[in-house]
Amino acid sequence: MLDWSEPAAPVRQMPPPLVAQTTVAADQTGLGAIDRRGGRVSVDDKRMINCRADVNQLLPLKYKWAWEKYLAGCNNHWMPTEVSMQADIALWKSRDGLTEDERRAIKRNLGFFAASESLVANNIVLAIYRHLTNPECRQYLLRQSFEEAVHTHTFQYIVESLGLDEGELFNMYREVPSITDKAAWALKHTQHLDDPDFSTGTPEADQAFLRDLVAFYVIFEGMWFYTGFAQILSLGRRNKMVGIAEQYQYILRDESIHLNFGIDVINQIKIENPHLWTKAFQDEVRAMVREAAELEAAYGRDTMPRGFLGLNAALCESYMHFIANRRCAQLGLPRVFDETENPFPWMSEAMDLKKEKNFFETRVIEYQNGGALSWE
Ligand code: MN
Ligand code: FE
Repeated sequence: MLDWSEPAAPVRQMPPPLVAQTTVAADQTGLGAIDRRGGRVSVDDKRMINCRADVNQLLPLKYKWAWEKYLAGCNNHWMPTEVSMQADIALWKSRDGLTEDERRAIKRNLGFFAASESLVANNIVLAIYRHLTNPECRQYLLRQSFEEAVHTHTFQYIVESLGLDEGELFNMYREVPSITDKAAWALKHTQHLDDPDFSTGTPEADQAFLRDLVAFYVIFEGMWFYTGFAQILSLGRRNKMVGIAEQYQYILRDESIHLNFGIDVINQIKIENPHLWTKAFQDEVRAMVREAAELEAAYGRDTMPRGFLGLNAALCESYMHFIANRRCAQLGLPRVFDETENPFPWMSEAMDLKKEKNFFETRVIEYQNGGALSWE
């Protein structure tokens, strides 16, 4: 049998140390000089961080969970403009369809998400991507970045549909203190990663990278977004703002994959670098989770000073404690709050979309057909 495959390059000879150092630094971005003498990538060479194997080669796959999340994200494709806003527009413009408390909570909720989606996207692209040295994880990050763009688009579409004041909404993250406090807290963990001189490779720098992953994946997307979802989905359950509620259900489905990807990334980095996961560092992560839950409670009191439709600040706070304990468990850490029952058991149903009759099915099928179009 003829074999048409290209022969592998001869096994690499160790280059002199000085050359090796510059090559390794360049390799991590994928934009460095091509190593013409390098051997082929084997699965065992692949690492989450500080990897020396070529990051431009997706195959052979090492982390199947990352590839599977990429596929799941693609199968969940949706656009906000597919959701009708007619009922929401009528309700929003009606004189007495919504109470002042409901209007205020909706606007603050939208204001929190509107800028947060951009913060999350910027963190992925400007801080996480270049330090995560694995092509299958980067493939997922590219998909996730697009999803964050779709989420930001959702808030643009809502503002436009309801005729909201765009300046008021998109500036809330600077002008409403309880929202600013959350954004500023998360940004503090991303700022030094954005420094062009920052690079991973020392225990301190690698822990700083882990801290950023915890702040954005576990806390921002994994905790703070969840009270936001609960507020809007609670309205939707009572047949109010059903268009926004449907969009939030799509966002929630995306975000639950983002969260789980982040948890898998952190746990895999732990496995490969056990020296980073010290007792002191674990305590620090738990303190971050606790502090974040307190910031969320303050936001809840600010957003829902009186409560509405079965929701109030106290219930949202115990929901946050429930979620915080769960996130700790997912990271293999002891819980940070007393054991709490989930005050919103219906949220897990909203997340388990397979239960929803007809809920994403038609759309997914449409997109799959779209992919099979012939161009003759
Ligand atoms: Mn998002
Ligand atoms: Fe996200």
